[in-house]
Amino acid sequence: MTDSTNTGGDVRLSGISKTYGSFTAVHPLDLTIPQGSFFALLGASGCGKTTTLRMIAGLEDPTTGTVHLGDKDVTDLPPYKRPVNTVFQSYALFPHLDIFENIAFGLRRRGIKSVKKQVGDMLDLVQLGDKAGHKPHQLSGGQQQRVAVARALINHPQVLLLDEPLGALDLKLRRQMQLELKRIQTEVGITFVHVTHDQEEAMTMADTVAVMNGGRVEQLGAPADLYENPRTTFVANFLGTSNLIEAEVVETGTDVTVTAGGGKLRLPADRCGADTRPGGKLLVGIRPEKITLAHADDAGAIADGRNRVTGRIVDTSFIGVSTQYVVDSPAGTALQVYEQNIERDSRLAPGAEVVLHWNPAHTFGLDAAQSML
Ligand code: ATP
Repeated sequence: MTDSTNTGGDVRLSGISKTYGSFTAVHPLDLTIPQGSFFALLGASGCGKTTTLRMIAGLEDPTTGTVHLGDKDVTDLPPYKRPVNTVFQSYALFPHLDIFENIAFGLRRRGIKSVKKQVGDMLDLVQLGDKAGHKPHQLSGGQQQRVAVARALINHPQVLLLDEPLGALDLKLRRQMQLELKRIQTEVGITFVHVTHDQEEAMTMADTVAVMNGGRVEQLGAPADLYENPRTTFVANFLGTSNLIEAEVVETGTDVTVTAGGGKLRLPADRCGADTRPGGKLLVGIRPEKITLAHADDAGAIADGRNRVTGRIVDTSFIGVSTQYVVDSPAGTALQVYEQNIERDSRLAPGAEVVLHWNPAHTFGLDAAQSML
């Protein structure tokens, strides 16, 4: 889906910020969103993600900085002159127009008379070919959202901005639409910038995620990298359960050795976002599904070289795909462990003395001082 006016290029934000009176919603931000990527701005309510999106759209004037689309500086262009379109949570379809005319609207406004082929292509793209003559109220929420996407894409924008577009849908439909939007983005190949507070949504859909907190991007990366190698406690906790354990460095090399809860743990130095000099304090984290549980009586069978901490199970719950344990340990209270494919009979019960063990390579280290802020 190309257009002679679509020159392509990255979205480049340089020193862009937004203040309202004395309040800074977005601190000066440098961000490059590669052409053709599915990019997510992820963060809790009020972190500045919508404001950032609106500055790309031209709906909000930045206090400082510039917005480039490819080589073009669009900072002073009004929204309708930018090769950008936005899909909002409220689909904002025209209730009196049928689906065909809702999608055709942008073309007709530009004076284009022959719209049948283009609208037909869009209806096919969003798989609503059989709904052309329906009115919006005859469609489900997910279908209406797909019409909103088709309507936004028909003018061949260079970038599609999506502001919590799935926020009004129930969970099951949301999950379906996440895959659907990803498919559409792959098919049209243009840049999608998606704002969401839902970490699972961002991880499912995006190639690159920018995690925002307090008007700043705390970390930028591929979903798996952010999850497995978070650099701040905020990112670690926002993306999942992190099992943070207070630790002190005893030795540094390719691996860092720390003491924690009376025992020793190892982690790769390049997964440490903290001061790794001996005596340095850090928080060591491990994702729950990376941990294996062994009954204390079977501890002798654990392979050498694995990190291990002792503990006692305080809660066991079965949640379909996995068995989740809560374990109290000298290393930390309420450590969480998720194990899959555990037969009912071999689940460990509360009160059991256990050893938690895992591959040191999965461990990450965070700055303990920063987490106190
Ligand atoms: P949400 O998911 O709730 O929309 P968000 O991360 O998208 O949150 P923004 O909408 O970007 O956050 O808002 C960032 C901060 O800026 C918030 O604290 C908000 O109250 C404030 N803010 C946004 N617009 C204005 C405005 N016009 N005047 C004053 N403050 C504003």
